[in-house]
Amino acid sequence: MTSTVLCFQHCDRSTNILCFQVPAKCPLCGASTETTESRIPPFVIESPLTNAMSHPFSIIVKPTCQQFLQGYKDGDNLHIGVTTSNGHVYEYDEDGVCSSSEEWKSCLAVSVLYSQSYGSWRSQWDDQLLEFANRPDWSSERYDESTHNCFDFVLGFLRTLPLGLSPLNVSSKAELCQELVKSHTVKLGKYITIYKKIEDYGYVCMPANSD
Ligand SMILES: [Zn+2]
Repeated sequence: MTSTVLCFQHCDRSTNILCFQVPAKCPLCGASTETTESRIPPFVIESPLTNAMSHPFSIIVKPTCQQFLQGYKDGDNLHIGVTTSNGHVYEYDEDGVCSSSEEWKSCLAVSVLYSQSYGSWRSQWDDQLLEFANRPDWSSERYDESTHNCFDFVLGFLRTLPLGLSPLNVSSKAELCQELVKSHTVKLGKYITIYKKIEDYGYVCMPANSD
């Protein structure tokens, strides 16, 4: 279970207070948050992490063993998959290709298609993905942790798409990682740091002008 991060300001316009649940007393002035008014009432901080189910036609990334908000450390191995038109996930690992959604409720997602290509590709995408996933290349026997893994699977699938269909222009595993993960790391890193502090202390105070 992941919690939603809330942000509010009580008495001080220069300090944001972040929490899962508004503390009974303002950590700055000690006044009750129930009987006194907050300058800015609690609003939800958007998470960079998302449920794969709400991201069709996307590449999705999560830690191989843990979840980003539970147990993940910078530099841990990442696992990657592709979603169908319904947000179901195809992924390749030592057991071969499997299709699931259970493990993908808190992942990074990057849309593969230009939004205008959706219409004509809605039906073809799933067929193409299924056909690709059923190729003997993706058997459990062929799996190799470093030379034939989940990244090769996703990259291979991207290569089957016609040119011009996707804004993602990746030709190597390194580029794929760069494109998907690096572009999100700063935001994700900040979010994870805040999330863990709230878990530890109940809330965290931050200067209002830092973003
Ligand atoms: Zn206060």
